[in-house]
Amino acid sequence: MTANRRFLLTRRPHGTPVREDFSFVEQAVPHAPEGGFVVRNCYASLDPAQRGWMDDAPSYMPPIPLGDAVRASTIGVIAESRSPDFQVGDWVMGLNALEDYSVGVTGGFTNKVDISQVDSPSRFLSAMGAVGLTAYFGLTEVAKPKPGETLLVSGAAGAVGSAVGQIGKILGARVIGIAGGPGKCRRLIEDYGFDEAIDYKGKSVEQLAAEIRAVAPGGVHVLFENVGGDVMDAALLNLAKYARIVLCGLISEYNSPEKIGVRNLWQVLAQQATLYGYLIMDYAPRFAEGGAVMAGWMAQGRLRIDEDVQEGLENTYDVFMRLFTGANTGKLVLKIADGL
Ligand code: NAP
Repeated sequence: MTANRRFLLTRRPHGTPVREDFSFVEQAVPHAPEGGFVVRNCYASLDPAQRGWMDDAPSYMPPIPLGDAVRASTIGVIAESRSPDFQVGDWVMGLNALEDYSVGVTGGFTNKVDISQVDSPSRFLSAMGAVGLTAYFGLTEVAKPKPGETLLVSGAAGAVGSAVGQIGKILGARVIGIAGGPGKCRRLIEDYGFDEAIDYKGKSVEQLAAEIRAVAPGGVHVLFENVGGDVMDAALLNLAKYARIVLCGLISEYNSPEKIGVRNLWQVLAQQATLYGYLIMDYAPRFAEGGAVMAGWMAQGRLRIDEDVQEGLENTYDVFMRLFTGANTGKLVLKIADGL
């Protein structure tokens, strides 16, 4: 490789990102700094969170500076090293960017990984990276559903949602998923073992709330919220007393310049529910522990992690937008290269 192809943020999107908010450039391949290394990125995780990082707004991470490559979790191989902790050829996972080569330093966000635990590097990124582990820690450490409790998951056919539902079943909960369209709802039941699936498309808050009530007459004990807006409003109308709400994401708002929010927040008070603002970052020191459990469940056939692997750094914009049209079927991953 003689060039480092990079997908840059050149303008802050207003609402839905457009192609002109980005540029695709070729720059010189970087060299490892003293004590650091260069990663050859092989697969990048494309995540709804990246949309938030493009805004200049208060958040849990600084905005991506204009002119920088778009930040992304990647898995790849050490291409050059001046660190005793990383050898050329080591597989590593970390918070890098949408580019061929990223520079890292010891003690940063990049860690060596043992990809032999699963059948491919991309699956390691999908299941044992931040997104798979969002489901794992969100359920086992935050929501903690008890056997027989009703767990409602929105964005249920996506990367986080499908894992949340399956882990909920492993923990003994009764699982209801909300997803867009009959095809995705069928997959919730047939592929992921959900007990019930509800299609939210084209329904009012009242209609959706009635459909949830029909399958959860005793109320929802745990709400794992990935979507927000009308979907969350309908769920809030079905909380059981002392329900726990894991607020994981609000994807319906990410491209909306006006944040409409939810209108039924009163139900949190009325049902004496607990609302947890949840970020996977807190659990980064425990990724190896959570990943080992996830790998075990996958090996036993109890957890299925589907991926939507799309190819080519030059196609990043079109691939990224799959998240917001609902085109992705499983964890959205961009393949950049096979290896060194
Ligand atoms: P994903 O669910 O695999 O993909 C996004 C899905 O969201 C789409 O397939 C689509 O599914 C749905 N969607 C898109 N726009 C929508 C809209 N306007 N209204 C309703 N649904 C919409 O993505 P993911 O990576 O698993 O992320 C899911 C959620 O988890 C996001 O909110 C993300 O920000 C959050 N998350 C949070 C953390 C954390 O630490 N808190 C970490 C990772 C992810 P349908 O076809 O079903 O509409």
